[in-house]
Amino acid sequence: MSLNILLCGAGGRMGQAISLISQEHGCTISFPVDLGDDPAQGIDSCDVVIDFSLREATLPLARLSSAAGKPMVIGTTGHEPSEKAEIEAISSKIPMVWAGNFSTGVNLLFYLTEQAARVLDGQSDFDPEVIEMHHRLKKDAPSGTADRLLEILKESRELGDDQIAHGRSGMVGARPAKEIGSHALRGGDVVGDHTVLFAGMGERIELTHRATDRKIFAAGALRAAKWVVGNSPGLYSMQDVLGLTSWAK
Ligand code: NAD
Repeated sequence: MSLNILLCGAGGRMGQAISLISQEHGCTISFPVDLGDDPAQGIDSCDVVIDFSLREATLPLARLSSAAGKPMVIGTTGHEPSEKAEIEAISSKIPMVWAGNFSTGVNLLFYLTEQAARVLDGQSDFDPEVIEMHHRLKKDAPSGTADRLLEILKESRELGDDQIAHGRSGMVGARPAKEIGSHALRGGDVVGDHTVLFAGMGERIELTHRATDRKIFAAGALRAAKWVVGNSPGLYSMQDVLGLTSWAK
C-alpha cells in the first residue's frame, strides 16, 4: 500500500525532486503544501509529514504534526537554537527523523570523520577545517551538513562554539591549536560539496563528498519516511535509518 505524504515546500528544488521519484519508492504526495497553503487541511489524511521548505515553517508544522499524532521527516536547515530545542521537545511525542543531509554517502562521511577525529585527537599537530560549497541561491551558511561535521569535531576535541573560526580575514595571527576553521563557498549550481581536512606537518588528510544530483537527498528522505512510520516517538538521525549508528559503535 502506498504511503501518503504531506510534503511541505513541494514547489521548491527538493520538493520537486521528492515528488518526481515518490511513486517509484511506493509513496504518494497526498497533500503538497507551499507558501500560502494551509497544511492543517491535509494533516488527517496523511501517514507522514515531510518538510523541505524553510526553517520558519518547521516549528509550526511540528506542532501540527504532534497534535495530529503524525510522524515527521525534517530536511530544513539553519534553525535558531530556541527553535531546535522546541522541535526536539516535540519529538518526545511523535517519531521524527531530522537530518541536515539525507544522502548515504554524507552519512558515511559523518562516520569517517568521527573515526578520523578519534584517531587524530591525541595528535594536536593535525588542524581540522571544514569547507563546503553550494549553489548561489542557498540562503543559510554554513550548511546543515557542515554544522554536523563541526559538531563532530567540536565534541571530539571538547571545543566550544567560540573556537570555530568562520572564515578568516585581516591580521588574524597564527592559527591557534584549539580552533576549527569553517568556510562556506557559494556559486553556480553546485548541489553540495563537503570536505573535512586534517592538516598536519608534512601530510594532510582530506575526506570529501560531492553531491551531483538532488535525487540522493530525495531518495533518502523517502526511505526515512517509510522507516519512521510505526517507530516509537523519539528523535532519529539518518544514521539510525541506515543502521550506521550501531555499526559505528
Ligand atoms: P527552495 O527555496 O528551492 O524551496 C523551498 C520551498 O519552500 C519553496 O517552494 C518555498 O516557496 C517554500 N516555502 C517557503 N516558506 C514556506 C512555508 N512557510 N510553508 C510552505 N512552503 C514554504 O529550497 P530547497 O533547495 O528545496 O531547500 C529546502 C530546504 O531543504 C532548505 O532548508 C535546505 O537547506 C534544505 N535541504 C536539506 C537537504 C537535506 O538532505 N537535509 C538537502 C537539500 C536541501
